[in-house]
Amino acid sequence: MTNKLKYFVGNWKMFGHFGSIKIIYQIQHLYKKFRLSKKKNKIIFCVPNTLISYFSKKLKSKSIIIGAQNCTHHENYGPFTGSVSASMLKNVGAKYIILGHSENRSSGDSNYLIKKKIKLALNEKLNIIFCIGESKKDRKKIFAVLKKQLKGSLPKKYDFNKIIFAYEPIWSIGTGKIPKANDLIKIFNFIKKNIKKTFKTKKYPIVLYGGSVNGKNIRIFSSVSQIDGFLIGGASQSSKKFIDIIKNYYK
Ligand code: PEP
Repeated sequence: MTNKLKYFVGNWKMFGHFGSIKIIYQIQHLYKKFRLSKKKNKIIFCVPNTLISYFSKKLKSKSIIIGAQNCTHHENYGPFTGSVSASMLKNVGAKYIILGHSENRSSGDSNYLIKKKIKLALNEKLNIIFCIGESKKDRKKIFAVLKKQLKGSLPKKYDFNKIIFAYEPIWSIGTGKIPKANDLIKIFNFIKKNIKKTFKTKKYPIVLYGGSVNGKNIRIFSSVSQIDGFLIGGASQSSKKFIDIIKNYYK
């Protein structure tokens, strides 16, 4: 059930300008300095649409991959002011895309719309980081909530190699609060088994954790072998904080 390759994914949200590429260069530098490349890691930065093209060109042959944070449920081009489609993101260099983030769900992304987005992103051969997670109020019925999000948004037959999952409890995002290790074991086992059974996949899926991850609490997460990596919001906006997470993960 455990994946050897570990993912460290930065979600910059509404942050950054061209000069912020400096943060990514510093991460590359620290990554080499601390010889973290000896471990099997994949580092992805999902940045605002305004930075995708510039960052992708600058990082072409480098170890950090650039992704997007959301797209519209409309296809290609159309009369949708302010919208950006999966094909447009692919065209400017995005390799990954976050879909189903709770911040987008709270502004209208239903399971139905997310499913449409997943299909369009898959058509563009984008890799998807699909977020699921329960609110504080739904903690008691967490398994039913997660099941509904998975079933309601995943196409019946999807390319198993193209979608990774991120379990992000909404009450943990940006709050400094994190789940207990024992709870995480149960939740990750549930998610992995549920996907394998429902979608009849051969292998267990890759599932990341997201929510207030930092250089200190990462040791709690590293004790849970079912976690295949992390989706990191606030701490990904600082090269030191981001590298501390990776460094301390392997301590
Ligand atoms: C996120 O936005 O996906 C996230 C996990 O944020 P933070 O790390 O700031 O809680």
